[in-house]
Amino acid sequence: MRIGFGWDSHEFRSGVPLTIGGVTLPHAQGLAGHSDGDVLLHALTDALLGAVAAGDIGGFFPPSDPKWKGADSAIFLEEALKQVRKAGYSVANIDSTLILAAPKIGPHAKAIQAQVAKLVGISPGQVGIKAKTPEGMGTDHAAIAHVAVLLEKATRQRKRGALGRRKARKHSTRR
Ligand code: MG
Repeated sequence: MRIGFGWDSHEFRSGVPLTIGGVTLPHAQGLAGHSDGDVLLHALTDALLGAVAAGDIGGFFPPSDPKWKGADSAIFLEEALKQVRKAGYSVANIDSTLILAAPKIGPHAKAIQAQVAKLVGISPGQVGIKAKTPEGMGTDHAAIAHVAVLLEKATRQRKRGALGRRKARKHSTRR
């Protein structure tokens, strides 16, 4: 098993849509950023990369590269999932906490949970979405996300692979 943790923050800005966990929420302001500013998917991407010691989101998608301007953060998440698979792991569960003054996440938590589960390829029951307001922190102008992930060895996938089949044949010859 492997554990991963990711953190991100983005500043609120007028005139851009608010996208959290791949869901566009009705709000007067969105999150500024080089990509779509999806603070939750960025923290999740870092948590997954960290769990397999594969670096961080900035290493794969440098903010200096114009290619990623306005990019859908699902692309970043897909790369992190690719690194997880490459390392021989699958996602056991995800837990997250969003910290933002507004909008209220509660009414949208189920939609965000379902979308994150869909993007990762797991069930909603494996995705925790929690939210708090930033009491006494002075960060009302920003959205913050903390994400923890647990990975487990993808044993079934490995057995089905070519290497696994060769090993099985070798083993049966010996016997
Ligand atoms: Mg970010």
